[in-house]
Parts: sequence; C-alpha cells; structure tokens
Amino acid sequence: MLSLLCAARKARCLAALSRVSHCDSHPLDSFARITPFQLPLRLPSLITSSNMTHPASTTAPSGGNPLQEVTDGAQQLAINQEQQKPQDAAQKQPKAQQAKKEKKQKAGGAAGEGSRPLEMTPVPDFFEHRMRIFDKLKAEQDAERASKSREEITITLPDGSSRTGTAWETSPFDVAREISKSLSERVVISKVDDALWDLPRPLEKSCKLEFFDFETPEGKRVFWHSSAHVLGEAAERHFGCHLCIGPPTEDGFFYEMAMGKSEGHNVTPDDYIPLETLINSVIKEKQSFDRLVVPKADLLEMFKYNKYKQHIISSKIPDGTSTTVYRCGPMIDLCVGPHIVNTGRIKAMSVMKASASYFLGNQANDSLQRLYGISFPDKKQMTEYKQFLLEAAKRDHRRIGKDQELFLFNEFSPGCCFWLPHGTRIYNTLTEFIRSEYRQRGFDEVISPNMFNSKLWETSGHSANYKDGMFSLAVEKETFGLKPMNCPGHCLMFGARERTYKELPLRYAEFGVIHRNEASGALSGLTRVRRFVQDDAHIFCMASQIEDEVTAAFDFLDSVYGKFGFDFKLELSTRPEKFLGDIETWDLAEQRLESALNKFMPGRWEMNPGDGAFYGPKIDITISDAMKRQFQCATIQLDFQLPQRFGLQFRKPTGGRAAGEDASASAAVPAGIGAGEFAGAQLPATGTSVTTTQASTGPSATPASADFERPVMIHRAVLGSLERFIAILTEHFAGKWPFWVSPRQVMIVPIAIPGVYEYAQSLKDLLWSKGFYVEVDQGPDTLNKKIRNAEIAQWNFIFVVGATEMETNSVNVRNRDQVGEKVRNDETVKVDVVLEQLSKLREERRIENKLI
Ligand SMILES: [Zn+2]
Ligand SMILES: [Zn+2]
Repeated sequence: MLSLLCAARKARCLAALSRVSHCDSHPLDSFARITPFQLPLRLPSLITSSNMTHPASTTAPSGGNPLQEVTDGAQQLAINQEQQKPQDAAQKQPKAQQAKKEKKQKAGGAAGEGSRPLEMTPVPDFFEHRMRIFDKLKAEQDAERASKSREEITITLPDGSSRTGTAWETSPFDVAREISKSLSERVVISKVDDALWDLPRPLEKSCKLEFFDFETPEGKRVFWHSSAHVLGEAAERHFGCHLCIGPPTEDGFFYEMAMGKSEGHNVTPDDYIPLETLINSVIKEKQSFDRLVVPKADLLEMFKYNKYKQHIISSKIPDGTSTTVYRCGPMIDLCVGPHIVNTGRIKAMSVMKASASYFLGNQANDSLQRLYGISFPDKKQMTEYKQFLLEAAKRDHRRIGKDQELFLFNEFSPGCCFWLPHGTRIYNTLTEFIRSEYRQRGFDEVISPNMFNSKLWETSGHSANYKDGMFSLAVEKETFGLKPMNCPGHCLMFGARERTYKELPLRYAEFGVIHRNEASGALSGLTRVRRFVQDDAHIFCMASQIEDEVTAAFDFLDSVYGKFGFDFKLELSTRPEKFLGDIETWDLAEQRLESALNKFMPGRWEMNPGDGAFYGPKIDITISDAMKRQFQCATIQLDFQLPQRFGLQFRKPTGGRAAGEDASASAAVPAGIGAGEFAGAQLPATGTSVTTTQASTGPSATPASADFERPVMIHRAVLGSLERFIAILTEHFAGKWPFWVSPRQVMIVPIAIPGVYEYAQSLKDLLWSKGFYVEVDQGPDTLNKKIRNAEIAQWNFIFVVGATEMETNSVNVRNRDQVGEKVRNDETVKVDVVLEQLSKLREERRIENKLI
C-alpha cells in the first residue's frame, strides 16, 4: 500500500519536475535523494509531507523533510551538527574536508584548492565544441522560423479577454509588456494552453495564455530551475566539471557534477566565494536562455565529452527523435525547459552547501559532487530567508536534544534513537496523554508482534511493493520481516474470530514499534529514522459509521493539537484515476467525509480532487508551527482494500437493518469488491476499477457470504511518528517545554544556611511523590550561578529556599519565562498552595508557564 502511494506521489513529483528539469529523463532513483522542503517564509502553500506520518499515507519513506532540511541548510550559517557515517553518500562537509586534506597529504601536497583560478584557463575544449554545433543548428532553426507564415492569432487570457498577435512573432513576454510594465517585470513563466512556455518564445497559433510569478509553485520551480543553470555555468567555468542533473527542489535547487579535470576534488566552502563571484557576473550579464530543438544524433555528438549526459540521451530519448537544449552564456545544457527570460531576473543567489552523491542515486555508479543553491527575485527575500535559517538552526532539535540530553544516536544502530531519561519523560508524557484520550474516545489499546512471516506481507501486499523498505530476517528457513506498519497485524486480530455488526466500530490503537529500511545517507536526527513509534489506530466500521468516526477523529485532533498551540487545516483527497472498488462505494464514502468536514471544519478544509489513495479517499491534516512551517502529522484514510485482502467480514443484522441503523449501511463495501494488485504499474487503465484475483494467501480470503459484509477500515494517527512529533515540538517551543510536557519542571535552589538543605530535600521528595520532575541543586556554585544554570537548562520554575521559606514552609518562585524582565514577580508562596498550582498547570496542560 505504502509503496504504491509512494510511487504515485513520486510519479507526480517527477511529472511536475520533469517539465522544468534538465531533460525529462530523471530516473526515479535520482530523486530518491532529493529532499524537497518548503520555503516557509514565502511558501505557505507548498506543503511538504513527511516520511513519518501514518504508514498508509501518501508519503514516501524517503520523502521530504522540512525540519531536517531547514536545519541542514542552516548548518553552514551556524552550528556544526551530528555526524554521518563515513560511508554515507551524503557526507557532511567537515568529513569531506577532512578526506580532502588526507588526500592532499598523500599526494605530497599537490596544488591546493586555494590556488585554483576563478576560471579554467584555457577553458575546456567542450565549450567550443558544443557551441559550434549549437550555432549551426540555431541558424537552421532561425531560418525555418523566419519562413513560417505570419498569420493573425487570438490570445485568450485567464480573465476571458483576448488579444490579437502574429504567429511565430508575438511572444508571451510581448503580451505581458502590453498588459503592464509591472507584470512584465514580475512574471517568471507563462503557460500556453496546457504547457509552460518560455516567455520570449513566439506563439505558434491561437491559444490560451497564463502568467505565473515567483509566488506561485510553477513560478518558483522555473525560477529555481533556471538558477540551477547559472550554478552549473559557474561550476563548469570554475572546475571544468561535467554536469549531470540540476533540478529544482522545494527549497531551491542543486546541480550534480563529476569533477572532470578537477577529479578527486570535493567541493568545499572555500569554493563558494569564487562560484558566487562567477554567478554574480552571469547575473549581471543578463544572459538569455536560448532554446534549440536538437535531434538525438546531434545531441550525442554535442555532449560526447560527458558520459552522464550520454547515458541520459541514450537511455531516455528514443532514436530518431529530438529534444531541446538551452544555452545561456557559454553553457549549453540538455533540458526541456522552460526558463526565466534572462539571468538578470535573479537578484540574489547563494551557494548553500555541497555533498557527495552517486550518479542516478545508485551506489554502484560514479561518485559525484552536488552543489545546493537558493535564489530570489528580490534581495530582501534572501535576507529574510537567511534570518529564517539562523532561527531554525537555533531551534534545531538535534542541537537542543544534545544540550538538554534528551536523546542520542550511535552508529551501532543508525537511525534508531536512544531516548535518554529526560527525553523519555517527554515521550512518556505524550503517550500517556494520547492514552488518556483513548480511554475517553472508545479506543482499545492492543500490542501486536514486531516480526511476521513474509507470507503475511504477501497478503498485505508489502512483499510485492515495499520489500526494499523492510528489514527481513531468516528464521528457521523462513523469511520474516520487521513490521513497517501495524495495519496487517490489526487485520489478523479482527479476523481471529467471527465478528458481528454489534461490535463495530472496533477501534484498535497501538504504540507499535515500526522499522523501515531508510538509506543510511538519508538518516537525520529524529525526523528521518529507521525505528519509530506511532500513535497508530485502525477503526473497523460499517460504511454508515464513517461519518461519525471521522467527525470523532476531528474532535480528537482538535483537542490534541490545541494543547500544543498548533493550528491545522485539512485536505480531502478523492478518487484517483486508478482506483479499487466501485464508484458508488467511493461516492458514498466521499460524501460522508465531505459532510463530516463541513460539519466540523467549515471553511478550514480544501478539496484535492483525484489525489486519494487507490484503495480509498483520505484526509490529510497539516499543522503550522511557531515558525509557520507546515508539517503533515495526522492522517485519516479510508481503506476498502485491506479488509478485502484479509477477507475480513462481520455478521450483518438479521432480518434487515438493526434498529437505528442507517439505510445506507447495506451499501457497505460489497463483498464482491475486487482485490487489486498493489503495484501501480499493474493497475488498469484510467477510469476502470480494479478487479483482479482475490488474494489467495490470506488467513480467510474467502468472499463474504450473504450474511456477512466487509468492514471499512480507517487508518488514523494524530501525532504520527512520536519521534518526528517530538522533533517538531522541540523546534516549535525552541526547547522551552510547556510545564506539562517538560522533563525539567522544578529546580530547588537552597541558600547555604544550616538546615535549609534538608528542607530543600524534603520539598523535593514531596514534589517527586506527586509525580513532578524536580531536583535540588546541591553543587558548590553561588546562588546566582545556580539560578542562572537552571534558567539555561529550561527548568520551568526555580524555587529558591532560605531561612524564611523554611520557617514559613514556603518557596520563593522564579519563573523561567520571566528571565531578563525588569519587573519580576518572584513571590513567596506556601508549599501547599504552590503544589496545587503546579498540579493544575499540569492537569490542564496549559502552554503558558504561569502559576495561577
Ligand atoms: Zn533547464
Ligand atoms: Zn494503518
């Protein structure tokens, strides 16, 4: 299930990217390492989902990770963060530098990088070679274009108005200029009928015309993709390297290159300044992006110096066909375009980081260098962006996790977190919170195994489609797999005996340990891990119960997210082109979801047509943190398929409907619904439902008889991965934990007077017995130093006790959040009063650190 969704999402991403990337031939694998993330300052609409949401959600295990990427991007600006294993593809810079130094020493101190000239002299031969071919073909293309007849055409704009122009002459840019100067300055790319179109490229016939600026996803992608060309040009001129691919990501772009004449050289931060010098000169020159259609044979000749481009051309472009190249300045690149008008549109551009990678993401291929960049059409945006990165770096959960001793990682178990005592406190508080909600909301907690015979994964479809994402092990000549999700186990529990409609809805919740085989190079902090736990639950219900269950899930979300101060919004994804089951079932389910959304979340949800999973519609929930970054943690997914694969059924009410039951209950997922194959490739053509063979290896894969019906399964998570959620919380609160979640609640600082220490100790014992996390500072530091230390360690309250407090059985309370304030409200409070205040603060799960 997961793999298909991932594949579908990846395919969509690819489809989107391929329109604007270097040639349309990026193999899937080469994107597996792209970690798209949004630019939170400017891109509230570009939500990236993450890998650690509910397993049945649409997200790839190797998918984007805003948290990780923002902080990664900030590394060079601020902190030096945690290690990667040396064999990781994505080596962090310090390692790369180290390796470089070692290499240099071995080579007897060959010419250092510091001495590299700004540009290669002489320039590599391939510059001249490709230019010669380009010029020849360009002259032919221009001549052909000149011979086209200049007919009058009608250009229709989105507002319905139309303008006249001349075929093969009038360009979208001409139209934009005609409309207004400001539009022509702002516009990044146009769309002609349904295809993005270079602004200066002449229109060929009557058409619809649309414009996009940088604030649109289309505009951003084209802008950043074009910027990648500029980075590529600078890299070619500086290193003489051979370029591979240079796509936009969701937060900038990168270009990947083989070092060529600079072989053995790892790009280091020392290279950024010369690269940016060249970038700035390219920008200043306002180089245009010249488009040229080139036949495959000429492409192979043009790029004969570059085995990577050769590979892409040979494997992806059919013989006898053509594709496009674009030239800006001396740089000619294989690319389907389109691009910005000229490089002068880029007002600010920075090289952000470099890493190692493999050609096409395959470790068996050549090792490459990958340079990441960011650019904007406005200098101010760059300033804001860098400020944002600095703030993100300060909040980096890996940094705070280390400072506050919450968790650690060790290379003996990559991607598997060691929760230290204080981190475990947070972890347990969250699970206890969710548990308390479960009790009120009719969920039953269960515990299912961690490893299952691979036959189960065949039934569930994971073996066929998610094998690479799973850890497998040999047990007595059989293959077992560690569970990557809990759903199949819960299906076994549901199917263990006959069920009746009276038992529904049946809600199984499990904090199950999940393992997913993430590439070691992709692991990062708590956001990209191999082992994690979700607040996972599966609701087995009748179709007539969907609306109530979904409404209850909204209420659950609302009360949980509210406790952290997260705002959230929802998106309903409906039936995709390829789907399982019959349209009536889908329509019914979608209507119910929509009705629940309208009832509970009026105005707070959006429709995302056609983006549902093939096995059912879903609701994605996106939260915004304190830095306006967006994360998808929760998910609510309807599933018509797993119940089918596992042959799940329940006994229907006898003699028609049970009292009070909705008539549409009988329209529950019909027994005859087909069990589909999981792989997207095996799904039938558009618009058809899947009716392939019944899963044969299931424990009770017989079709439901007349007395039985299939239940609908609802996959649901609120926090999603606990690990990832704690990372989000850490950064959201910047390590200043609200009292109820805080692993350090009260620090008692005794004044050095005889008897006071004993008083402090008895106070500590009292608070500890009431379940608070409390310590006494018994160290040799001065009073002020102790207070300062406790403030830095983010203790919510500091109780200073001296002779007066001891005599009156009270404490002097200092509030963490009043540090630095001129007027402090330090006050002496009776112990029984403060105890009550602390208990209330904890019970009410208030965010504000205030005793009332
Ligand atoms: Zn391009
Ligand atoms: Zn599930």
